[in-house]
Formats: sequence, structure tokens, C-alpha cells
Amino acid sequence: MSHATPAATGSVGDPFATTEIATREKLEGIFNDIKSHPLYDHEIYGCLNCGICTATCPAAHYYDFSPREIVQLLITENLEGIYDAMQEKIWACAQCYTCAARCPFHNSPGGLIMLMRETAIKHGMQSAKDVLKPFTRVLMKLITTGNQLAPNMITPDAFADWGPNVARIKAPLNILRKAIPMPTMHTLDTAWEVNIKTSIELYTIWEASGVLEQLETIDPNLFDVVGDLMDEKRDEYQEWLDEQHDAA
Ligand code: SF4
Ligand code: SF4
Repeated sequence: MSHATPAATGSVGDPFATTEIATREKLEGIFNDIKSHPLYDHEIYGCLNCGICTATCPAAHYYDFSPREIVQLLITENLEGIYDAMQEKIWACAQCYTCAARCPFHNSPGGLIMLMRETAIKHGMQSAKDVLKPFTRVLMKLITTGNQLAPNMITPDAFADWGPNVARIKAPLNILRKAIPMPTMHTLDTAWEVNIKTSIELYTIWEASGVLEQLETIDPNLFDVVGDLMDEKRDEYQEWLDEQHDAA
């Protein structure tokens, strides 16, 4: 299989494009990070360019986006095309993996897109910052309560993209939640109760898996706030452990 790599130049990109022009070195660094990911070889085996993935992709019906194009860019090592796709197109994928179920080559275009997204975050690309900005609120909720979403976060303003369906969330959630059999889910501030030990374990996973490192690249201010909150929770947990120890 041929892997055509365009000739090296000092810098590349469309001079009329609004996106930043990347150096050849930067483009190669980005591609190498995608290709060296441990999952890369499990997500791509070859490509017939048949378009079955795009034909079955829900995102392709609504956006200027094609999983076939993404796979072709990667398999031909089209560094400029990969970089351009990372400015917007990769964020259109809904991660439903219909493409992976349909591809005759057993590729996973959705999986490859996930690797490209991780790389966009690692390189602090503006597209990643823009896409992840609205999730700040979700992350803060997760770190303070252990829940991603709480019922009181579901407001018409926050979910305007639901269109006419947004009217349905005006339902009296405080009453409806009381109908749930588990008492721990009767609140609106959290979806359910998470104990502090579980929260501390979650922080450890974030640290060990590189999530916090990614956050520092994307939003240093939020990283600082999250770090302070984690320290507070850890101190609180340690105090509780000490109390248990003293009482024993
Ligand atoms: S379905 Fe598979 S082989 Fe066909 S274009 Fe998509 S990735 Fe390539
Ligand atoms: S995972 Fe992404 S690329 Fe694949 S079918 Fe779903 S939306 Fe399309």
C-alpha cells in the first residue's frame, strides 16, 4: 500500500484559510502522535474507499463530514488534510460506531477520530478548546459531586439545541424525582449520591490516565481550580480516616 507524503516545505496550509498555518515539523508531530497511539493499529487495517461508513454515518447526513475521507487522509498520510480535518470536522462525529460495525475492512473510523481528538487536545488546538469549553460546568459538577449532570442543570437555556423538545424539560422535576424508588436519587442538586472515597478514586484515575494533563493544556485556569478542589477533598477524606482511626 502506498503512503504518499507531500513534499516537505517550511510551512504549509491554505494562505487564505482562517486556521493557523502549521510548520512541517508540527504536522509530522501531530500525525506521529495519532499513529503511535496504542489503539491505532486496531482501528485501521486498510480501506476500499467504498464509502459504506459515510453512507451509514448519522453525522455525515447533517454536517460537511465523511468518515471515509478521514480514513483516507490517515491511510495516505495526508498531513495537511489531517490537520485541516482536526480544525472542525473531527468534532462532528457522534461516536456511535455504526461505521465500525459496517466497514468490510473492520476499520473503526469513529475510533480513529477519537485518537485524533485526543491528539488535538494534547497539542492544545484551538478547535479542542472551543469544543470543550461548554463542558467546564460538567467537569466542575463531576469533581464536586461525582455526577456529570444533575437534574437542576437541565434547563431550557442550557439545552437550546434540543429545539421544540426543550419544552419537555420544564416538567416539575422535584416532584417526578420523588417517584424514583431509590431515596438517594430524590435530590435535584445531584443525580445520585457519591461517597468521598469513590471521588478520591476518580481523581486518581484522572491523574494516572493523563486526563488532568490534558486539562492543563486546554484550560490552565480550570486545571488550577480543579487541583485546589481535589486537594480539599483529599484533606477532607484524610481527616475522616484519621477520625475513624482515633475512634477505633
Ligand atoms: S467502510 Fe471501511 S473500507 Fe469502506 S470507505 Fe469506510 S473505512 Fe474505508
Ligand atoms: S462513530 Fe462517528 S464517524 Fe462513525 S458512524 Fe458514528 S458519527 Fe459517523
